Amino acid sequence: MSQLQCFQFPYGHDNYGVLVHDADSGQTACIDAGDAQAAMDALKQQGWSLTHLLITHHHGDHTAGLAAIKTATNCEVIGPEPVSTPIEGIDRFMADGGEFEFAGRLVRAIHTPGHTTDMINYHFPDDALLFTGDTLFSMGCGRLFEGDAAMMLNSVNKLKILPPETLVYCAHEYTATNARFALDVDPDNRALQQRAQDVTRLRQNNEPTVPTTLRMELDTNPFLRTDDAALRQSLGMSDADEIAVFAELRERRNQY
Ligand code: ZN
Ligand code: FE
Repeated sequence: MSQLQCFQFPYGHDNYGVLVHDADSGQTACIDAGDAQAAMDALKQQGWSLTHLLITHHHGDHTAGLAAIKTATNCEVIGPEPVSTPIEGIDRFMADGGEFEFAGRLVRAIHTPGHTTDMINYHFPDDALLFTGDTLFSMGCGRLFEGDAAMMLNSVNKLKILPPETLVYCAHEYTATNARFALDVDPDNRALQQRAQDVTRLRQNNEPTVPTTLRMELDTNPFLRTDDAALRQSLGMSDADEIAVFAELRERRNQY
């Protein structure tokens, strides 16, 4: 089994799509479909033919190009079971723990409701790859449009237990703002201070801060650190439960 190749491409204001390619089988998956032209351009640039389209959730910046990509490539479209807003054009529905085969390996669906109730993240365990949509961002998490803090905390806890070396691809370049916010609430975190510097340098050079690793996020992402004593103390919430800490962080980030 050879290593999967990932090709990340920007679209829209601050979105990222990713192509995942297996040279042996020739299979290629695209994560999300916000912009058909951007996805088709990326495929052409790499010389890859699309076989699978993996949708994370129903928002337009992840689905607007679905029909056009499906028509152009005849790919199989995999996506979440309809919860709040059904997605047109899904061939195969994924619930929590659902599995499918891609290029001779298993891909596992992890249901991570909170940003939306339908959100599915895609884990490639053999390749240590994770596609988190708008659930987990670098040093941040998605806004709670359809779920609450308890739901989202439960969702990110499902991601926290994956191997720390897992490469994490999220769907937006929100990292610089997330880093400033994270430093506000977790000022003495050395790993975070270093990461924030690296992010500043990357963005000055117009380079992506994504992918990140789960280990990096465990060390720097306040939304994964609701059990951290220093962070809780800086919020004045040393004795609060984790749901309350998560809710406070999300509320402060909304106002930030
Ligand atoms: Zn979204
Ligand atoms: Fe989005």
